[in-house]
Parts: sequence; C-alpha cells; structure tokens
Amino acid sequence: MQAWVIGNWKQNPATSHEAQALLNDLLVNDLLAPTEGRLTNTCQLMVAPSCIHLAAVSARLQETPILCAAQDISAHSDSTGAYTGDCSAQQIADAGATWTILGHSERRQYHKEPYDRLVQKMAFAFKQNLGVILCIGETQEQYDNEQTLSVLGEQLSVIPGVLESLRSTNVDTNNDTPNAPSIDNMTERLIIAYEPVWAIGTGKVPTVSEVSRTHEYIKQTLADYAAELTDISVLYGGSVNADNASSFAADPMIDGALVGGASLKAQSFLAIAEAFASAKA
Ligand code: PEP
Repeated sequence: MQAWVIGNWKQNPATSHEAQALLNDLLVNDLLAPTEGRLTNTCQLMVAPSCIHLAAVSARLQETPILCAAQDISAHSDSTGAYTGDCSAQQIADAGATWTILGHSERRQYHKEPYDRLVQKMAFAFKQNLGVILCIGETQEQYDNEQTLSVLGEQLSVIPGVLESLRSTNVDTNNDTPNAPSIDNMTERLIIAYEPVWAIGTGKVPTVSEVSRTHEYIKQTLADYAAELTDISVLYGGSVNADNASSFAADPMIDGALVGGASLKAQSFLAIAEAFASAKA
C-alpha cells in the first residue's frame, strides 16, 4: 500500500515569500524528480498551508507530485453565506486544494470544536469532492487513565453518520460527477490520522508498539462500520521527525505520518517521506 506523508504547516510561515521559499526547497529535490524520483511511487506527499497561502501554494504544486490540502473548512455551509472568518469547502476546492484536514486537536483546543460538528464538515467536504484527513487522539490525562481506545472509539463514532449522509447525497450527485466521493471509493478519499494530543509539538512520542496496537483498533473499528472502509490508511502524527520516522515507518500498521513542526523544513520533511517510501517499497 502506498504511504502518505502530509505536512500540516498550521499558521506558518509568516509570509507568502517564505511559503514559496519552502516550496522551492521541496521542489528542487531530486527525490521528487518525475522519472527517477525515489519517493513518489511509494509515498504520496501532501502539504496543508494556511488558508491565506492556499491558492498560491496549490497553483505552484500543479504538475508536481505533491498534493495540497486545507487545514479546516466551514461547518455552516459548503458554499457561501454570512459566516465571518470561515472558508467553505467549495472555496477551498476552487483555490485548488483536493483534500482537507478536519478535527485537528488544535481546532478542538482553541476553537472548542465538538466532534459531532465533524459529521457536517465531512459531508460538506465530500460534497465538494475534497478528500478528508480526519484527526483523532486522546489527551495526556486520557492516556494516563488508559482510556485511549474508548476515546478513539467515541471520536470515530462520527463515521456512521457520514456514511449515512454519503449514501443519501450520492443518489443525487453521482450521475453528474462520477468521481465524487462515495462509500465505494472511501479508501482514496478518507484518511485517519491518529494524533495523541500529548505528542503534538512536545517531542514526546508513544512507543511504536503502542501506535501499532492503536492503529489496529482504528482499522478494526472502521471495518466493522462498513466493509468498504477496510483499507483506509491510518497515519500517525505527533512529534514525527527525521530521526524517529523510520521506526514508525517499519510497522505495517502505520501507513504514513501527519507532520507539523518537521514539515516546515524541506530537509526534515523529505527525510520523513524517504523513510516511509523505503519502508513501504
Ligand atoms: C500536528 O499538529 O498535526 C503535528 C503532528 O504536529 P508536530 O509534528 O509538530 O507534533
């Protein structure tokens, strides 16, 4: 199975000039060269810039092997409306992104975003033909109290609602847009990122076997929801860097990484991607 390495740039970098410089550093690298590039056959790269840089970054990434994602979308409308500060799924798609991160723990922490809102966001994303990287993960306290799997089970319980809404919208849309997300092509349009909140940006990481067991649980839970969800990719996120990437990559349950801090330097981001590309080759 192809690996995924996704860079979440968060509210970085400070200027569009720096965003372009980061892209320059990524795109001059031989690892990505169209013919002899070692990465792109086994590892799909994606970056998620902040909304203000999205259109320029996605324009620059056209005709390259790197995909472009948003970090969030509006929960209020998939299109337009009086929702100050929001960007809709349609606007994100129009800006050139093909994916969006949803449910990142920083949305939960700083914006008090409840999990049930994600049913609506995911439905909007799929309606506008955006793939979804759904983030789930437990807090330090929940980890200490050995509640990880029950917390993840609760977070994943948004999925049946999403499947239900896909079943009803596909009836209306699939004739016009045959590639629109449907339950049948979910393996190409949905990724789960397991990100323990306590590991994000802290330098602390769970052991590879803890992540592996957790991913096994996530995969089993998805398969129990629908047979079509059996092969969904499950990525690990939380303080992944060039030094620890190969140990995560070596585990067959870990299909890739969602990377924050280390994605802001081309060298570390590509080293992580190379670790996954060679482990999954
Ligand atoms: C993230 O925020 O998704 C993340 C994984 O961050 P970091 O790699 O910096 O821990």
